[in-house]
Amino acid sequence: MAKLEIKNLHVEIEGKEILKGVNLTVNSGEVHAIMGPNGTGKSTLASALMGHPKYEITEGEAYLDDQNILEMEVDERARAGLFLAMQYPAEVPGVTNSDFMRQALKATSGKDVGLFEFALKYEKMVEELKMRPDLAHRYLNEGFSGGERKRNEILQLKVLKPKFAILDEIDSGLDVDALKIVGENVNDMVDENFGCILITHYQRILDHITPTNVHIMIDGKIVLSGGKELIGKIDTNGYEWITKELGIKI
Ligand code: ADP
Ligand code: MG
Ligand code: MG
Repeated sequence: MAKLEIKNLHVEIEGKEILKGVNLTVNSGEVHAIMGPNGTGKSTLASALMGHPKYEITEGEAYLDDQNILEMEVDERARAGLFLAMQYPAEVPGVTNSDFMRQALKATSGKDVGLFEFALKYEKMVEELKMRPDLAHRYLNEGFSGGERKRNEILQLKVLKPKFAILDEIDSGLDVDALKIVGENVNDMVDENFGCILITHYQRILDHITPTNVHIMIDGKIVLSGGKELIGKIDTNGYEWITKELGIKI
């Protein structure tokens, strides 16, 4: 059982405040969906937690259990159990996909997983994601289609099995079949050792991943939190009613 706690997080990009005090607590076993209009700061939250140098934290804290992740280097964050789908390079020529993932697993877990044992596990996961079996031997992301890249990120997630994942728009660029497979695989990962923040602009991924909590982010803040019922309301009515009801001026 682990806890990811974000407290009063303020983030600036090039001197402009984008996040204006985000509070969010995620426990293992929970899936928190963050929804909101474009340009509202959702990706900024993911990038700031990942330690992207362009994003300056001006106030606030983020803890994974009792460890202050904002003070850690990016690789330390991964070792502490945080997975960020965007942390992987787009293409790595000369490194096969399975080698990369075995190395990443070694780097984050500190354990050397045997080649044979790893190959078995890896092949099973490739099958679960209905990916092409030759994928293991191809170079990382080289010549992958958009959908294959997305699935490969989820494969990395399954291989690494972190404590928490922050998944930013994993639904973009996926067709309906891929969406279902990706969604179901993430949903199946959720247990007492895994929790997830799922950032999405659209509700369709949430047909396959059942969130325990739903948050609406507007203008750099979480302005409304609730359960699954919020998804349908957003789907039907958009976001404008929230700003009106709460008297938020953007
Ligand atoms: P969302 O993911 O909710 O669509 P973002 O976090 O991507 O929103 O963007 C929030 C705001 O920050 C936007 O106004 C965007 O233009 C600005 N922004 C995001 N990334 C950068 C960047 N690298 N440089 C400058 N401005 C940025
Ligand atoms: Mg504040
Ligand atoms: Mg975004």
